[in-house]
Amino acid sequence: MVYDVIIIGGGPAGLTAGLYTSRGRLKSLLIEKALTGGQVMTTEWIENYPGFEDGISGAELSQKMEKQAARFGLEIIQGSVVNISLNGRMKEIALEDGRQYEAKSIILATGSNPRLLKIEGEDTFRGRGVSYCATCDGAFFKNEKLAVIGGGDSAVEEGLFLTKFADAVYIIHRRDLLRAAKCVQERAFANPKIKFIWNSIPEKIEGDDRGVKSLHIKNLKTGEQSSLEVAGVFVYVGYNPNTAFLRGLVDLNENNYIITDENMSSSTPGIYAAGDVRAKPLKQIATAVGDGAIAGVSAEKYIEENF
Ligand code: NAP
Repeated sequence: MVYDVIIIGGGPAGLTAGLYTSRGRLKSLLIEKALTGGQVMTTEWIENYPGFEDGISGAELSQKMEKQAARFGLEIIQGSVVNISLNGRMKEIALEDGRQYEAKSIILATGSNPRLLKIEGEDTFRGRGVSYCATCDGAFFKNEKLAVIGGGDSAVEEGLFLTKFADAVYIIHRRDLLRAAKCVQERAFANPKIKFIWNSIPEKIEGDDRGVKSLHIKNLKTGEQSSLEVAGVFVYVGYNPNTAFLRGLVDLNENNYIITDENMSSSTPGIYAAGDVRAKPLKQIATAVGDGAIAGVSAEKYIEENF
């Protein structure tokens, strides 16, 4: 099947790109491997996306974005892209299940995946106390004590969310200065259920058949080791871009993010990147939709000029 534009990834960047290309009357297909919305879908509450003065849930915002793009004709399918190859000006896309598509232009909006702690017990207790999604798993921990690892926006915002269920939330950060936005920090410092453990890293997660029981941590300044009794460990230590399947197709930076110019153009003509998968200083929904809009319009211009 031949499309004008194929968008890979259905988060805010991909859905916005699809909205623009569909409104531009380009035959557009979006391929998403899981649920549309991407990381937004697993975010409980969003306060800094303009237009929703009281905030909006990640699930609702994702649905609204999907419906809006679909209204203009964007086709959305589920599938996992395993390879992209070039055939002259055309781009060929292969899915894991054998389906194949061709497109004049591609927009890569594959986002990123949570980084792992890579400590003992993380694998063993994944899904049984170790989680990367507070929205998905928080409600299982009513009146329990929980640990959150990290000091960025995700760790502090999701730590705050977890206080809805848990009795106590320990936010364990490897430095003594948070990376999270100041207003989020202020809310966390004022929350009596949140306790910060500074200059510390997790070393080992222990538990039994029923799940996590404790987390061993080490203070990097004093070398002191200690153990926290917790029923869950929520990991928010950043993300890795989903670019492994690209295998040399476009230039990546040293951290494997796609390098683009201001038109979202990658190093390969007709292939664009948008959202968190792109090398850029600020990763937000607001910047992802901006990238998506630019990538969509750039793809339209490329097709006009080259086909
Ligand atoms: P992030 O900003 O990269 O923060 C990751 C945190 O984990 C940092 O505090 C880092 O410590 C710590 N860390 C990294 N590796 C670690 C390790 N091996 N062990 C222990 N700690 C480790 O990631 P994020 O919070 O997920 O945010 C990702 C992007 O999304 C950011 O651009 C963020 O602003 C954005 N975001 C925005 C919002 C919002 O605007 N509402 C919400 C969520 C995310 P150091 O500080 O020492 O490096």
